[in-house]
Amino acid sequence: MEFRPFEKKIWLATPTMHGDELRYITDAYNTNWMSTVGENINEVERIAAESAGVKYAVGLSSCTAALHLCVKFAGERLYGRPAISHGALEGKKVFCSDMTFDATLNPVVYEGGVPVFIDTEKESWNMDPKALEKAFEIYPDVKLVIYAELYGFPGRVDLIKQICEAHGALLIEDAAEAMGATLFGKQCGSFGDYAAVSYNGNKIITGSSGGCLLTNDIEVANKARKWSTQARENAPWYQHEEVGYNYRMSNVIAGVVRGQYPYLGEHIAQKKAIYERYKEGLKNLPVQMNPIVDNTEPNYWLSAMIIDRDSMCPQVRDDTKALYVHQSGKTCPTEILETLAKYNVEGRPIWKPMHMQPMYRMHEFVTVNGSARAKTNAYIAGGIEDVGADIFDRGLCLPSDNKMTESEQLAVIEIIKSCFN
Ligand SMILES: *Cc1c(COP(=O)(O)O)cnc(C)c1O
Repeated sequence: MEFRPFEKKIWLATPTMHGDELRYITDAYNTNWMSTVGENINEVERIAAESAGVKYAVGLSSCTAALHLCVKFAGERLYGRPAISHGALEGKKVFCSDMTFDATLNPVVYEGGVPVFIDTEKESWNMDPKALEKAFEIYPDVKLVIYAELYGFPGRVDLIKQICEAHGALLIEDAAEAMGATLFGKQCGSFGDYAAVSYNGNKIITGSSGGCLLTNDIEVANKARKWSTQARENAPWYQHEEVGYNYRMSNVIAGVVRGQYPYLGEHIAQKKAIYERYKEGLKNLPVQMNPIVDNTEPNYWLSAMIIDRDSMCPQVRDDTKALYVHQSGKTCPTEILETLAKYNVEGRPIWKPMHMQPMYRMHEFVTVNGSARAKTNAYIAGGIEDVGADIFDRGLCLPSDNKMTESEQLAVIEIIKSCFN
């Protein structure tokens, strides 16, 4: 390989600033609104609601905080637990996306809920509606579903919502990765009864951190505002009837987010160009890129690929390490990631499915064939039924930074190709 390592690292996804952010931060500074109140927050909430097509947005310190308040509210609404402590979901099963970041479901555990993982569908790499139907057959009493869009490529969240409605369950949509993506022209973040978006530093737009809770339900919006600012009652002194949180967005952070929103479309266009360059550059290799479902428009946040099973060299992973044996004409995610790293390029494995995580080993996992706990990793023995484990085994995220140049990306593509030699 005649390439030399890049002098400047090629990253997976980093913040892309434009200048307006600084103006809004400076406004906050000059007017001394350096707290969790101010015009930047008001504007972020207005813009976030408008761009997602929902009635209310509540600015919070992170998407995880937003998901926590969604989960807590859902628990109270469903089970009527008093809001004087954690535990709104105590002992209750919750159906959760399986191939996602653990922040999607951590809040379920904060509230004492028990995640049940629903397998991924091959056609979208998102929660499989058929597996969700199966899960409701097995556990008809479940009343809450948490669904996350993967890497900005929407699955059939419309079908997931229909299934939830048919079973009288609430849907929380974690659109952290999918801001600006649509299904049938409708924005991700507007399908759930309650939803959340993220302004974390590597997302499609960023505030350095932060998130919003999105909903059409004014009761949730009001509760989220109250709980996120320590749950003060309306009284002349600090009066409390419920447990509170310090989850409100800072007006300084909101300045960054406010400055970023006008560039969401531009970032999506850049990410789409990156995806299409990979698709073209890798088309003669035995690989598939993130699937795009009919009637969806992704935001293309992270380009990813999976290697065809026939072209996988032997690869084994334990809880913390991976080994592989190179074979001519074949490769594996570990080899590609290690090779990219050698050239100063950042890639990443696909999210390791939650049902494979040590802390959830005893938790139920439902595939299209029903309860699969006893059969986990059965795909290795043939008869692929654990779709998440299979995609994790064969897949990786490719560097998708907006600021990567075309020539840098073409070099990255050559490095990937060399792994198949
Ligand atoms: C990034 C991410 C989150 C967490 O967002 P924060 O704003 O960092 O709390 C949650 N869910 C998914 C799917 C994510 O990718």
